[in-house]
Amino acid sequence: MATELITPKLQRVRLSCPDLPIPQDLPPAAWVRGYFPAVGATSTASAAGKPTSVGPWSGGNIELADTAARAYTITQLDREAHSFALDFVLHGHGPAARWAAQAEAGQTVQLAGPMGRGKVQPQHQRYLLAGDTTALPAIREWLALIPPTVAAAVHIWAPDREEEQPIGGPEETTVSWSFGDSPTMADLAETATLAPAGWRPQDRCTKFFVAGEASLITRVRRVLAAGGPIPPGNLQATPYWRLGQAGAPEPTRDGSPSRRPAPGHQ
Ligand SMILES: Cc1cc2nc3c(=O)[nH]c(=O)nc-3n(C[C@H](O)[C@H](O)[C@H](O)COP(=O)(O)OP(=O)(O)OC[C@H]3O[C@@H](n4cnc5c(N)ncnc54)[C@H](O)[C@@H]3O)c2cc1C
Repeated sequence: MATELITPKLQRVRLSCPDLPIPQDLPPAAWVRGYFPAVGATSTASAAGKPTSVGPWSGGNIELADTAARAYTITQLDREAHSFALDFVLHGHGPAARWAAQAEAGQTVQLAGPMGRGKVQPQHQRYLLAGDTTALPAIREWLALIPPTVAAAVHIWAPDREEEQPIGGPEETTVSWSFGDSPTMADLAETATLAPAGWRPQDRCTKFFVAGEASLITRVRRVLAAGGPIPPGNLQATPYWRLGQAGAPEPTRDGSPSRRPAPGHQ
């Protein structure tokens, strides 16, 4: 394990495991469920039960005592080195953010996954990718996988300017940022208006991916749906966390919030 502070509030933790089986067809924005020491538990190893390296990957849930399960996006995958990174928003509360803030080489963490249902589809020639800083790794992964010929527009909401960072993407990628407290970013609901003129998720060739705080995602979906029925696969609007509630909402097949909390959330 190695760590790197990317911005004052974004901690990258690189994990490696020599016998890590990585599927060839990892979907864009694939994620893992990490098991972090619950508040009151004393160490990562005892909380994980097994002081192994990363793993095991498993498709379903695993039950680990004294841990809290949290979802994080796989990024910076290096197949040859059997390693990848998780980028943690250091928001100051919660088992995952606390663990990431203290993580250092030599520590271990248990993960389940990878999971994800995103798909790069040939009819999509325009992408709007938007979210708060929890969605940054997912947005980067989409940008890395979409063909270089497509047009992409990215919008990120960050707490302050110190969080701004390079995004990358195909040549025709435009990037914009808004700054302020995520929960008060009313303009997230206006995602439709952030798309370049004429882009609508109702159009066959346009894909919208939006992720971030749950109540804002609900509003985004409402705003976008007001424009008419959206073809399946054109809108992935996924709640990644919920203000005032521990544990991210478990994403459902269409990316809408689930009423059922993810196992292990507390
Ligand atoms: C599919 C998926 C992929 C995700 N990928 C990433 C990722 O790559 N990087 C990432 O940082 N997050 C990611 N998230 C979001 C992350 O799982 C949640 O933010 C999670 O709740 C953090 O757990 P915690 O233990 O730190 O805080 P919790 O115990 O869940 O929450 C404690 C308190 O902190 C608040 N809180 C939680 N998250 C935030 C936040 N980001 N900002 C401000 N307040 C917050 C909660 O409302 C609660 O009041 C992803 C979520 C999903 C569903």
